Amino acid sequence: MSIEEMYQEMKKKLVDIVPDVELRYKAELAYEINRLKREKNAVILGHNYMEPALYYSIPDFVGDSLDLSRKAAQTDKDIIVFCGVRFMAETAKILNPKKTVLLPSEKAGCSLAASITADDVRQLRARFPGVPAVAYVNTYADVKAEVDICCTSSNAVAVVESLGSDTVIFLPDEYLARNVARETGKHIIFPTLDGPKEAAATEIDYQMIGWHGRCEVHEKFTVQDIQAVRQQFPDVVILSHPECSPEVVAASDFSGSTNAMIRYVKETRAPRYLVLTECAMGDNIAAANPDKEMLRLCSVRCPHMNQITLEDTLKSLQTNQYVIDLPEELRLRAYRSVERMIAIG
Ligand code: SF4
Repeated sequence: MSIEEMYQEMKKKLVDIVPDVELRYKAELAYEINRLKREKNAVILGHNYMEPALYYSIPDFVGDSLDLSRKAAQTDKDIIVFCGVRFMAETAKILNPKKTVLLPSEKAGCSLAASITADDVRQLRARFPGVPAVAYVNTYADVKAEVDICCTSSNAVAVVESLGSDTVIFLPDEYLARNVARETGKHIIFPTLDGPKEAAATEIDYQMIGWHGRCEVHEKFTVQDIQAVRQQFPDVVILSHPECSPEVVAASDFSGSTNAMIRYVKETRAPRYLVLTECAMGDNIAAANPDKEMLRLCSVRCPHMNQITLEDTLKSLQTNQYVIDLPEELRLRAYRSVERMIAIG
């Protein structure tokens, strides 16, 4: 494919989304990235939150965390370039220890993953001995290594139910935990680590033990936002991610993982939609559904996902940076938690 053909391909999808002058420049970058990708036998995985010009030009696979974890586990390429954030690239490395995994920007972290440490998990488990622990996949590898199983927003309920335990530790997202507790009919508490060493008998009566981690994007959406949009557009269908507060989820018409929201818009026919999640995903859905009207609340962007650009992805392939490495002993423990999650589907 020539640069002109790349530009025409991107234009088909993005004509109403990205200004033409930017599209021409980005098509040149995408052309070079795809050429290098073939030359180096690399695969590019792109999260649903990538900006539209990147999302529609260079990834071999796009999707949510669970999808991309599965793709990472199946690839036969030598290099995996992860256009997402660090914990996602770490998960790819956990599943592919022999492959080179690259993250295009060192700054692509995550407020939620940074909200808990491996030591926090060890202390919590010491307070609640024998209670199985689940970590959301949005955690770093050392935290995954301390729990029994991981989950994503698409399989969190199934993972909790698979444990067959009355009491479950669920980390670190407070809102996802509250939403899962509601769906599974469990009570939830958020204990502090500076309390008594052993859990009080009354705490053990509770069925879900959470942590006060938050996604800095999803915590910003409010019920007032929803009311204001509904007042202006009474026929809007509102979709929210389960990392939003339970009040926002309850006020929405549908809540699900990024993939579930993409599917929902594709398979339904409403006058207009509003997706309460990272703004770029609204653009990506709009590009895939030109016949549907998407509203956006784009004051809320993920500063970490936005670190991943076409420029940095090109540099990543050119200079082999930034390589994700994990100590083997830690990787093996984290692998067990991720594998168990993937087996549940
Ligand atoms: S959107 Fe939220 S959970 Fe996802 S990377 Fe950004 S801060 Fe982390």
